[in-house]
Amino acid sequence: MSFLSKIFGDENKKYLDTIQPIVEEINALENKFKDFSVEKLKQKTVEFKEKLCRGRASADEVLPQAFALVREASKRVLSQRHFDVQMLGGIALHQGKIAEMRTGEGKTLAATLPTYLNALSGKGVHIITVNDYLARRDAVWMGQIYHALGLSVGCIVHDAAYIYDPQYVGEQAGDKEQVDKERDLKGGFKVFASYLRPVSRKEAYEADITYGTNNEFGFDYLRDNMAYEDKSRVQRELNYAIIDEIDSILIDEARTPLIISAPDTEAGKMYDEFARITPRLQKETDYEIDEKLKAVTLTDPGVDKIEKILGMKNIYQEKGMRYLHHLEQALRAEVLFKKDRDYVVKNGEIIIVDEFTGRLMPGRRWSEGLHQAVEAKEGVMVKPESITLASITFQNYFRLYKKLAGMTGTAATSGEEFHKVYGIEVIIVPTNKPMIRQDLSDKIYKSEQGKFQAIVQEVKQYHKKGQPVLIGTVSIQKNEYLGKLLDREGVPHQILNAKQHEKEGEIIAQAGRLGAVTVATNMAGRGVDIVLGGNPFDYKKAKQVKELGGLHVIGTERHEARRIDNQLRGRAGRQGDPGSSQFFISLGDDLMRIFGGDKIKVMMERLKMPEDQPIELKLISKSIETAQSKVEASHFDMRKHILEYDDVMNKHRETFYKKRREIVKRTAVEDTESEDSLKTYILDLIEKKGFSKQDYEKKEQEIGSENMRQIERMVCLKTLDTLWISHLEGMQYLRDSVRLRAYGQRDPLVEYKNEGHRMFQELLNRIEDDIVQTIFKAKTAIPGLSFQQTSFNPVRQQVTNRAENIAHKRQQRIGDKKQKIGRNEPCPCGSNKKYKKCCGK
Ligand code: ADP
Ligand code: MG
Repeated sequence: MSFLSKIFGDENKKYLDTIQPIVEEINALENKFKDFSVEKLKQKTVEFKEKLCRGRASADEVLPQAFALVREASKRVLSQRHFDVQMLGGIALHQGKIAEMRTGEGKTLAATLPTYLNALSGKGVHIITVNDYLARRDAVWMGQIYHALGLSVGCIVHDAAYIYDPQYVGEQAGDKEQVDKERDLKGGFKVFASYLRPVSRKEAYEADITYGTNNEFGFDYLRDNMAYEDKSRVQRELNYAIIDEIDSILIDEARTPLIISAPDTEAGKMYDEFARITPRLQKETDYEIDEKLKAVTLTDPGVDKIEKILGMKNIYQEKGMRYLHHLEQALRAEVLFKKDRDYVVKNGEIIIVDEFTGRLMPGRRWSEGLHQAVEAKEGVMVKPESITLASITFQNYFRLYKKLAGMTGTAATSGEEFHKVYGIEVIIVPTNKPMIRQDLSDKIYKSEQGKFQAIVQEVKQYHKKGQPVLIGTVSIQKNEYLGKLLDREGVPHQILNAKQHEKEGEIIAQAGRLGAVTVATNMAGRGVDIVLGGNPFDYKKAKQVKELGGLHVIGTERHEARRIDNQLRGRAGRQGDPGSSQFFISLGDDLMRIFGGDKIKVMMERLKMPEDQPIELKLISKSIETAQSKVEASHFDMRKHILEYDDVMNKHRETFYKKRREIVKRTAVEDTESEDSLKTYILDLIEKKGFSKQDYEKKEQEIGSENMRQIERMVCLKTLDTLWISHLEGMQYLRDSVRLRAYGQRDPLVEYKNEGHRMFQELLNRIEDDIVQTIFKAKTAIPGLSFQQTSFNPVRQQVTNRAENIAHKRQQRIGDKKQKIGRNEPCPCGSNKKYKKCCGK
């Protein structure tokens, strides 16, 4: 054990020791609550609520009783009694920590404890899941407990919102008894439409507890802040959130901020043109690839070639670098993004494949022209580029909650990041039963082909014995490839990849059946329990599978992050069950090729190993881990970098949204009080800006008060939104340009902060100026002027931000090209200044 992890282990133990007495206290209450009637349980909730509301007790004081009550309810409705370790986890969650609890330990149930306790305040608790399916599943599954205790449960998904209602029968009307029975059997993975009554989003948010995904919560927040009327906001103030699979949401998705955007009508035809040019370029002579950074750099001959094709003198000077930018994107699309690995083409659309989960992400688009470039490459219709109307990173969204907690099976390897970046501590909760899974040492092959052959043979052996096997692959492509190999060998199997994720839950839940062979992309079906034997109530089957050694997991490639590998291993050996895992690796794997270093290659050559013979060398296994931690560290830096920049925007966003909200309140339509309020606001502005109040009153008399107010309402909100949007764009450009300026030895982040601050002050000023001026200019009421949002039609968009890499590379290019730029020529950074007065200073 390393020094650090020893310290960490000590700290962890110390913490657990301090909360252990609370568990004892909870347990002591068990006998008392056992005899409570159903009514009494509900009544207790009312009692707690009152106590908290009147300030006669704090949440901490109510905790032991509240937890004991939840356990009692769970015993009655789910026949599941929270284990003591689940109590420990629940306390950690209540205290705003990340509870690391192994896969299968029952995080869903553990979360009901702090959720109930914190919902008593009536301010709302949000439980964040990684997908809509799990949001629904958990609302229906755990809803039974909350319902028994008299709390309401809402659920928001992509295109609907619900309230948990045990009486609601939905489409399965008539079969209620049957459905109830089924739920007991399949509650762990099956979603029942029956218990979810459709309601408005607002109602779902008004429930005591609301389940939903990070995307939905985040987008609702952004949409609320674009609303033209206060009453159309759906969220309440953000109170307490528990993020399930928190590493997936705060780390894997940290580089994909939420964006609401609208089509940019000025988008050019560049993409098609560039998609024709890029295949004519040659690797190495015309461009170089850096797979580590996912970047492509044009060489000088490459640039010359393009300039010739396009008939341009200096592409670095075209349209403030817009040309160069799109050209680079086209090139990246051509050489770095692969069909069926990074995206699939479906119904004439490019659909992103999530690199961590292998899931399809319909509706998600890559940013900064990359998506268009891929569309052009695949010859599908190129959708216009879009302008950002609102955006936020998950980190900054979750910061809006008064209290935040999280849970996952794999947090410890990212403990430092959670601590440094998010200020949340990770607590490792012990397992209920000792973990007995055997993690076998890696098998390493020279070639990828040899590796897959060996895997197939291995699977065959397991299948013959009847022991269930789960095989994790990194991409859809490899998933299907392996499927074909298994077909050829006559091994029946289930394939689980992003192309059919609707049934994912049900398939993965069956992966523990006798003789089952399941091939899944990494992390497919995350969050779904694999029950040995396939049926939680069939103990005989379960015993059979256990005797064979439980579930065996085969990893076909190491992921860039150790966390993801651990997630896969964690599929086996849940809750003290037997199980085993092993990774098969080849020197042709991406991780090995790109990060493995030359040492291994040389050694392999020397060893002259046959293709399908495994090597078990400590050195290689070790170098894989080194490679992984190198990649992890570099990704950590990249994420930190993004967040540092977003922090600047975050301050702007907070201030702006607050201001906008005030104005929205002042402009409420049917409200006479707010009419006065609006006029007062405008009069103040007029005074501040030195305009004449008499002129204003005269104008009001001319066109009538009602018209005047209508104009003001419209002008205020339009001005705010238009200027904000251009501020967002301006900040994006600023971000690009400060990085270019870094050549002058200045810290780009400091530059960005300073310049950004100036721009923001200017924005606030401009808003006021424009509002006053426009009101004076307005001649009369515009007929049919609508107060609703008509100018744009927001679409959902989520982007992958790799701008860092590109900018970095581009910076180098410009550095090289510098010599060629004349001192009096315009600067390539797009500032419109002469080169000698700008970057060439
Ligand atoms: P995790 O999210 O930690 O991977 P889940 O919440 O999916 O685990 O739970 C895994 C399985 O354990 C589920 O089938 C659940 O019903 C079961 N389970 C959880 N807690 C208990 C308990 N206290 N008693 C019995 N079964 C439990
Ligand atoms: Mg879970």
